[in-house]
Amino acid sequence: VDFFNINFPEKILRHFERKGYTKPTAFQAQVWPIVFSGRDMVGIASTGSGKTISYVLPALTHAKAQQPLRKDDGPIVLIIAPSRELVSQIDQVVQEYCSIYDLRSCAVYGGASIVTQMKALKRGVEILVATPGRLTDLHEEGFCLLKRVTFLVIDEADRLLDMGFEPQLKMIIQKTHSERQSLILSSNCPREIKTLANNYMKEYIQVAI
Ligand code: AMP
Repeated sequence: VDFFNINFPEKILRHFERKGYTKPTAFQAQVWPIVFSGRDMVGIASTGSGKTISYVLPALTHAKAQQPLRKDDGPIVLIIAPSRELVSQIDQVVQEYCSIYDLRSCAVYGGASIVTQMKALKRGVEILVATPGRLTDLHEEGFCLLKRVTFLVIDEADRLLDMGFEPQLKMIIQKTHSERQSLILSSNCPREIKTLANNYMKEYIQVAI
């Protein structure tokens, strides 16, 4: 399998070359055909598998294909992760590819100024990376409409559930667009993950490496 099996824009292929990526990781090789075809997925993988760009590239491709944001529209892509560190790491990768795709992103998490995050959201972002707690606060304050979200990623879902974020996750998912593509990433697949997937996803494909 090589990168040419996926129809990546030339700019992305050149970026991979600069980064020294020669071929998709085993996880990416399995995930990309499924996710680029619009299917829902549960992916069992941990850090180091290349899982971040396995969903970031389909997410940005999806955002690029939608109608441009109008004033006060919320994000098109929502990525939820359990910690400030993880949200920042994911957003760094998102930013790297946003500059190539000409899209905007921001990261929101607790322990940092909510006012700064409100201002960033107000300017408009196609991609939002968030912890569930801060996202819930921003949503309740009216700073983050979720009804335009048509591509949802829940990363490290096992940790999110272990940390007790299920009520926030439920609220958030229910506010997103009903016609959306959803992905769940988890390092293992306990029953709670299956329940989450069965409750909020259409027919989905499970991928494990
Ligand atoms: P992740 O599992 O997403 O945290 O990625 C782990 C590391 O693998 C990161 O440093 C990525 O930049 C790198 N990476 C992602 N995809 C590839 C690839 N296809 N070839 C080589 N390295 C990659």
